[in-house]
Amino acid sequence: MSVLVTGGAGYIGSATVAALVRRGQPVVVYDNLSKGHRRAVPPEVPFIQADLADSARLRQTLREFNVSQVIHFAAFTSVPESVERPDLYFQNNTVNTLALLDAMRDAGADQIVFSSTASVYGEPRTEILEETHPKQPANPYGLSKRFVERILETYDAAFGLRHVALRYFNACGGAPDRGEDHDPETHLIPIALQVALGQRPHIQVFGADYPTGDGTCVRDYIHVDDLAEAHLLALDHLERGGASEQINLGNGRGYSVRQVIDVARAVTRHPIPEQAAPRRAGDPSRLVASSRKAHDILGWRPRHVNLDDIVASAWEWHRRHPRGYED
Ligand code: UDP
Repeated sequence: MSVLVTGGAGYIGSATVAALVRRGQPVVVYDNLSKGHRRAVPPEVPFIQADLADSARLRQTLREFNVSQVIHFAAFTSVPESVERPDLYFQNNTVNTLALLDAMRDAGADQIVFSSTASVYGEPRTEILEETHPKQPANPYGLSKRFVERILETYDAAFGLRHVALRYFNACGGAPDRGEDHDPETHLIPIALQVALGQRPHIQVFGADYPTGDGTCVRDYIHVDDLAEAHLLALDHLERGGASEQINLGNGRGYSVRQVIDVARAVTRHPIPEQAAPRRAGDPSRLVASSRKAHDILGWRPRHVNLDDIVASAWEWHRRHPRGYED
């Protein structure tokens, strides 16, 4: 019996595949490589290059590898892109996930760990977000994921397909040979590090008039290896018959955009010039997690709590691989 990992060649997916391999779990990766990198997946792991929309291939893979559990990462993940092209986000993130769930039902695979996001909450009403906070996504990306959460609840009630939806806060960090490589890059930490590498002249700060301490947006930055670990614990939870859950994964600490850039300056010893820019559409002012539920239900606690260390791990990856997986 293998675990099927969709999007296993992506940033968080490949970190999770590495963790599954480390614990000796049979795994098969299913990825169309539209965003992911073949080199991010260990060569010994079976790799199917195919699209989620190819339901015949999906069904064949589920049966051939005798899959009972799925971890579903494959999705588009850029907030600004989703504002411009919501059609792509609803199709790839929502409609294609529905096709995956129906293929799982046909194949008798009845457990799924789903990549959800802090973007399901929208503008916060409390400093720290509990899972029960109202869900009013501020952008199409968050909405595309929230739709799936509701579908998953409905499928559990109707078909007994159980899920853990993991709501990631801001994934970051890396390992010496595994890291973030998006094209185009839109995320704060890799962009700051690209400036330090001389690949960009400056970093833009999107909005300095938010109702936060220094006026820039506050986020909760969580190391990708801590996220990976939570997926293994979520599989175990489902395996032992645990109920469907929606669970936050964050560090519980908020850092503003300016604070993150300062950390990047300290880590890289580069001045990283910044340029003021207008607010980016779809950005809530603050997203900081309560991860109490992840601890209580999964026994999860992040190991990388210091932002300097997290950014240093990303910096090591970027320095060693300035052109990402092409290097
Ligand atoms: N951000 C920024 N400049 C950049 C990239 C991001 O000011 O070049 C801000 C962005 O507006 C948000 C925060 O950094 O407030 C984190 O953005 P990111 O895209 O990394 O993650 P998101 O929170 O959108 O998932």
